[in-house]
Amino acid sequence: MISKDMVRQIEGSSAIRAMFEEGAEMIARYGKENVYDFSLGNPNVPAPAAINEAVKDIVDSEDPLVLHGYMLNAGYKDVRQTIADHINRLHGTSFGPDNIIMTVGAAGGINVFLRTIIDPGDEVIAFAPYFGEYNGYTSNWNAKLVIVPPDTETFQPNIEELENLITAKTKAVIINTPNNPTGVVYSAETLEKLASVLEKKQKEFGTDIYLISDEPYRELVYDGVEVPYVTKFYDNTVVGYSYSKSLSLPGERLGYLVIPDEAADSKLIVEAAGVATRILGFVNAPSLMQKTVAACVDEEVDVAVYDKNRIALYEGLKEIGFECIKPQGAFYLFVKSPFEDEKKFCDLAKKYHIIIVPGGAFACPGYVRMAYCVAYDTIVNALPQFEKLMEEIKSMK
Ligand code: PLP
Repeated sequence: MISKDMVRQIEGSSAIRAMFEEGAEMIARYGKENVYDFSLGNPNVPAPAAINEAVKDIVDSEDPLVLHGYMLNAGYKDVRQTIADHINRLHGTSFGPDNIIMTVGAAGGINVFLRTIIDPGDEVIAFAPYFGEYNGYTSNWNAKLVIVPPDTETFQPNIEELENLITAKTKAVIINTPNNPTGVVYSAETLEKLASVLEKKQKEFGTDIYLISDEPYRELVYDGVEVPYVTKFYDNTVVGYSYSKSLSLPGERLGYLVIPDEAADSKLIVEAAGVATRILGFVNAPSLMQKTVAACVDEEVDVAVYDKNRIALYEGLKEIGFECIKPQGAFYLFVKSPFEDEKKFCDLAKKYHIIIVPGGAFACPGYVRMAYCVAYDTIVNALPQFEKLMEEIKSMK
C-alpha cells in the first residue's frame, strides 16, 4: 500500500495528468496538426549545437574514471568555478566555487535547500500564482505552504499581504521571476520592497528568513527587460538556477544553487546542502552534463523563436477579445477566463481541440495558462479556433 501522503499527491496532480491524457487521446483521434496543445512547458527550441559538440569532445577527451565517477557532493570544483565566474561577469557579484552547489535541476536544488533548512511545521511562503510543484516540494519536508493572494492588476508579488502572513515559523519565501505562469518579471522596486519587509520581520521575530529565487527562466526575456539579480537586494537570498529552459536541457536534469557568503549560516548551509544532496539519493548532479554546461557557459537558445510566438499569441488573443497580461519573460501567457469557473473555459476549449491549463493549478482560479513553446503554426492555426470559441462564449452570455 502506498503512503497516505502519496495518495494525496496523486489526487493533487490528477487535474493536469487528466488533461495530458485527454490531449494524447485527442491527437490519436484528430491528428497532431488538428490539436492545439498549450499545456506543457517543454522547450520547442533545440539546445545550441555547441552542447552536442561539447558532449562528444568531453567523452572523447576526459579520463572515464573521472568523468563517470563519484565526486564531491557539490559537484566538480572546476565547473563551479566556471559558473561562479560567469555569474560574476554577468551580474557584478563576487561568488567563488564554494558558493555554488550543482543540482538535479531547479527542482532538485529547491528540494535540497528545503531539506537543509526545514523542521516539520515550519512555514514557506509563495506568491500566487505560483508553480504548482511547490506544493509537493514543501510537503516533502512537512513544511506548511502559505499562499499570498495574487495582485491580479500587475501580477507582481503582493508585498503588503506578505507582511501580514510572515510569522515566527516562516523559514523561507519563494519567488520565481520571470514567472511561471504569468511571464511577469519582478521589478527592482518590488524586490527592494520585498527585501525591506523580510528584514523588518527578521528583526521583529529574531529569525532568519531565506528568500529562494527560483530562476529557470532568467535567460528567457523579451524587449530588453532586465531581470535584477536577487542576491543584490537581500543577504539571505539563495538562487535556484536551471539549464532546463536556458539551454533547453530539461531531461538532462542540471542546475545549481547559489548560497552567498552573506546568507545567515552560509558555511553550515553549504555543508548541509552537500549532505542533503547525498542523502536524498542524488549523491551529485549528473557528471557529464556538469562538464558540458561548463564548456558552454556563454551559449544561449534562440529566444527569438519564443518571442515570435509570444507576440502572435498575445496580439491574436487580444484582438479576438481575450484579456491577458503581456509576458515579459518565460514562455507562458496567463489569460483571464471569460467564465468565473476557469475549468468550464478549459472544457469548452477542448471542443475546439485547444488544451490549456486551469489557473487553479497555480493557486489562481479565474485564469488559464497557455505554454507557447510550441510550433509557430500551432499558434497561427489555433487563432481561428479561439475565434469560434469566443463566438460560442458570447452566444452563451
Ligand atoms: N520552477 C519553475 C517555476 C518551473 O517552471 C520549473 C519547470 O518547469 C521548475 C522549477 C523545475 O525545473 P527543473 O527542470 O530545473 O527541475
